[in-house]
Amino acid sequence: MPERARQKIESVMILGSGPAGLSAALYAARAELHPLVLTGTEVGGQVALTDKIENYPGFPDGVGGSELANLFTKNAEKFGTRFEYDLAMEVDLSSRPFKVRTYSKEFLSKTLIVTTGASPNKLNIPGEDNLIGRGVSYCATCDGWFFKDKKVVVVGGGDSALEEAIFLTRFVSSVTVIHRRDELRAGALLQKRAKKNSKINFIWDSVVEEIHGSEAVGTLLIKNVKNEKVSELPIDGVFIFIGHKPNTSLFKQYLDLDDKGYIKVDSHTHTNVKGVFAAGEVADSIYRQVITSAGMGAVAAIEVIRLLDNEVGN
Ligand code: NAP
Repeated sequence: MPERARQKIESVMILGSGPAGLSAALYAARAELHPLVLTGTEVGGQVALTDKIENYPGFPDGVGGSELANLFTKNAEKFGTRFEYDLAMEVDLSSRPFKVRTYSKEFLSKTLIVTTGASPNKLNIPGEDNLIGRGVSYCATCDGWFFKDKKVVVVGGGDSALEEAIFLTRFVSSVTVIHRRDELRAGALLQKRAKKNSKINFIWDSVVEEIHGSEAVGTLLIKNVKNEKVSELPIDGVFIFIGHKPNTSLFKQYLDLDDKGYIKVDSHTHTNVKGVFAAGEVADSIYRQVITSAGMGAVAAIEVIRLLDNEVGN
């Protein structure tokens, strides 16, 4: 059993440091609750891995994803948020104060705000796992530079796939977007930009069945789902953007999840456990925007403030 890091009981602990977690931290800090943020492995969350955000109000020229994450962090820190750069390994939500264990510490907290976000889905095809970091990637911002003047494939037809495909054209000689239908899911603006980019081409109605390569990705086996024809495509890298799965495995024993695995919350971010709130993509399978996550984080913090005030008042 790990040692208890602090004997004290926190008023509020926030699990995760994306837009939801950092906005919750800002609001809780300004109410002088001295929130403790357990950052998780991806400090800043998915937004920090995004090249540019153009739909967060207040930045008419767009803002770098990591820059926005830094600004969120600074803002929360300014009012007294504390950060623990670690990962929750286990939680006990059976009674209050709740317990959160990292590898070496245990924390106690009267309330919790879960903002653990979501992780990229995998294709789960032969070759994918073996070649991660050797041509298979889930983050263009992290790995795009390694593919200078190379030919890459992007799998997916949503906003992420097109945004990342456009970003990759800064480095690569060509991007082939492979989509399983003949109609993109992405918004109209991104579709327009991608379709007029001369470095981007599309393979429609097709799925990647296997990724081949010994030292690095060499070829993809692609099947056309309409005529069942299988073909081989020589390629240097494959970037996979086929949606996300919520990071809820730690909580499923205690919190109600919906049929897709997202934490069920009411319109005020309350979960089924009193004192536990959830915000951002871990509890939102529909909107999943920086602004909606930030808004949910603020709501969760306000609900924590109300709950703690009521409890003191009683
Ligand atoms: P998404 O919208 O769920 O799109 C996933 C894409 O992957 C879809 O085109 C889907 O095909 C395809 N796909 C899913 N499973 C697949 C599989 N096994 N094999 C092949 N293709 C598969 O995910 P996302 O693009 O990551 O976006 C997530 C959320 O973030 C969305 O709400 C999006 O609007 C938002 N987002 C917004 C922006 C922006 O506003 N600039 C940028 C990025 C993300 P089908 O279309 O056939 O289902």
